[in-house]
Amino acid sequence: MIKDQTVVSLSYSLKNSEGEELGRADAAQPLSYLHGSGQIVPGLEQALEGLKVGDKKDITVSPKEGYGETISNLKMKVERKLFPPDADIQPGMQFRADIGSGKEHTFTVMTVEGDDINIDGNHPLSGQTLHFSVEVVEVREATKEELEHGHAHGPGGAHNH
Ligand code: ZN
Repeated sequence: MIKDQTVVSLSYSLKNSEGEELGRADAAQPLSYLHGSGQIVPGLEQALEGLKVGDKKDITVSPKEGYGETISNLKMKVERKLFPPDADIQPGMQFRADIGSGKEHTFTVMTVEGDDINIDGNHPLSGQTLHFSVEVVEVREATKEELEHGHAHGPGGAHNH
C-alpha cells in the first residue's frame, strides 16, 4: 500500500483540460518516486496515498496543488548585461535566480531580442489543471539510502547516480 517511505512505480498519462497529452510513462518504464518526499506534485501525491499495486485512478489536480498559479511578475524583460559576458543566451536556456522574494525560481529564457532578454520564472505547467490517469505498477519499502537521499533509486533500490 502506498504510504510514506515507500517507493512507488506508476504508469500514467497526463493531459491538460483541452485533452492534450503533456506526458506519459508506460508500465515497462514507469515513473518511480519516493512517497512523502515531495518528488511529485502535492495533489497527485495526496491522491495516491493508500492505493495498492494494480489500482487505477483518474486524478484531477488544480494549479494550486500542481505546478502553481501563473505569476505575471515572474515574466520579465532583463538586459543582456545582467548575464556573464561569455554566456551564450538562447531561448530555452534555464537558470535559477532569487529576484528578491527570498525564494529561488527556475527561469527559462523565452526570447532574445538584441540586448533584451525575456525570461519566465513560472513552471511550464503553471496555471494548468492536470488530469492524471494512473496505474500503480509497484510499491516497495524504500531503502535506507533512498530515505537518506530523499528520492527513489533504480529497480530494487540500485544506486545509479
Ligand atoms: Zn540517491
